[in-house]
Amino acid sequence: MTTLVQLNDHAVQDVPAFVAALHGIYEHSPWIPERAAQLAPFANLTALKLALQSVVSGAARADQLSLIRAHPELAGKAAIAGALTAESTGEQAKAGLHLCSAEEFAALQQLNSDYNRKFSFPFILAVKGATGKGLTRQQIITTFTRRLRNQPEDELHEALRQIGRIAEMRLNDLLGHTPDMGATIMEWAEQIGAWSEDDDALTCTYLSPTHRRTAAQLAQWMRHAGMQVHIDAVGNVVGRYLSPTPQARTLLTGSHYDTVRNGGKYDGREGILLPIAIVQHLHERGETLPFHFEIIAFSEEEGVRFKSTFLGSNAVIGEFDLALLDLTDRDGISMRTVITEAGHDVAAIAAIARNPADLLGYVEVHIEQGPVLLNRDLPVGIVTSIAGSSRYLVHLKGVASHAGTTPMSMRKDAAAAAAEIILYVEQRCSQDQHAALVGTVGQLQVPNGSTNVIAGACLLSLDIRAAQDTVRDAAVQDVLAKIAEIGARRSVDVKLENTVNAAAAPCAPWLMQQLAAATERAGVPAFELASGAGHDAMTIARITDVAMLFTRCGNGGISHNPLETMTADDAEVSAQILLDFLRHFQPKP
Ligand SMILES: [Zn+2]
Repeated sequence: MTTLVQLNDHAVQDVPAFVAALHGIYEHSPWIPERAAQLAPFANLTALKLALQSVVSGAARADQLSLIRAHPELAGKAAIAGALTAESTGEQAKAGLHLCSAEEFAALQQLNSDYNRKFSFPFILAVKGATGKGLTRQQIITTFTRRLRNQPEDELHEALRQIGRIAEMRLNDLLGHTPDMGATIMEWAEQIGAWSEDDDALTCTYLSPTHRRTAAQLAQWMRHAGMQVHIDAVGNVVGRYLSPTPQARTLLTGSHYDTVRNGGKYDGREGILLPIAIVQHLHERGETLPFHFEIIAFSEEEGVRFKSTFLGSNAVIGEFDLALLDLTDRDGISMRTVITEAGHDVAAIAAIARNPADLLGYVEVHIEQGPVLLNRDLPVGIVTSIAGSSRYLVHLKGVASHAGTTPMSMRKDAAAAAAEIILYVEQRCSQDQHAALVGTVGQLQVPNGSTNVIAGACLLSLDIRAAQDTVRDAAVQDVLAKIAEIGARRSVDVKLENTVNAAAAPCAPWLMQQLAAATERAGVPAFELASGAGHDAMTIARITDVAMLFTRCGNGGISHNPLETMTADDAEVSAQILLDFLRHFQPKP
């Protein structure tokens, strides 16, 4: 078995020996370990992986292409001729690619040929997949088909990332590393991710039978990990890993276990399963913490069933609005009935509220749900702030006159005004990347429009977010002023409806610093990013200091979708960071 100490010695003293030791990690590309040796010594395996991948990402396009082209086709001619490297043969056989049916083989040959024609390099996929256990042939063919639709530039980067993932798993094998906590987190997510209200999709809405079954399972895992567990009156599953010091304060963590319709397996759930895996790890070693560590699996965050979000975390901060109990779902069943039928007592909701004086803070781990970490080849990032948002509905009213008889200079075209607004939103909101300013017009309608009539009315939505309220407010001001100007110039009436105004929730610098230190000790540069999406941490921030750790999201960063994915290795790195953070945790000075 090769060790990191040996690799470091080689890298520093004998580069050819380092290159030889890593010869099977990248296909026929000794230049990668050769250049990575300059970055030695490596603090740990993660640092080595990041160094190797940084060489790949930083290489000239010609080198990147030659690396990609050094890979065999999946189930291609080379596989049949037995001309693959030992590593590739093993991986392709593990995925069962040598057992293809005639139809599957034909489909793969067609995909290989279409893919090569479009991108002029072979399709590369880490066939051992996100868990390392291997994709099925059907998953491989589905992924292949989907990626064939990518833009060439995106696909080149995806190919390089897949090469990085292949290298990561080969390095694990070489050094005998198994991401044990990561594997547990992935297995648990898979298990509860298979329970759904819908066939063929993951849907878990507030207090449905699926939701209650999930809660019971979470409670069981928490208990097994050595925690004191209860399910509260709104369905939050609460596990406490008690400190030997009874009067100690409590550090909170958690996330939500409900999902959107047709959601992903890791959104929310990662932030519950990961700390349970950590507590299990501590408990197995008889290791305690000098504070109580509490995991809250929030029952509701997404607002699917009752169109009201953050029910779980609002109860925890004592701001659950009891008027919401009268809301009804699409079957006309009230929230009060749903809660009561689940065996809870609505009169006990108020008592869920935590006393801020007992709390040390709140740290949430969450899948990023975006492409930023993926594009930077980083497994984790530290959240600076959860963006605030402003939303408007913009009603434009022009004149619906004849498309043939109205001269261009005499029109009051609501759709043309909308078009101008959309382009301005895009341009204005591109101006502050640092504050994560984003602006979107996601809905656009021409009510009763027809081909031969100038649009008399137009309805559009406006969603502007930023990590800093001042930045968002300034952008909103500018956009509203521009809308007024466009309306006046085009003689189109404007009516605005402000539907949402939510302040940003900045993360606490003292918690961020401790997370950053743990991240760096794990061999990962502490990269900061804002969260464009809302999270439970945003609610909890109203009673205690919060921080968040994001885990890289695969498949281009897609979320709220079955394609949402992460790897066991990234789950492991995230878990190691939170564990190390807990072991080094210092209360707010
Ligand atoms: Zn979420």
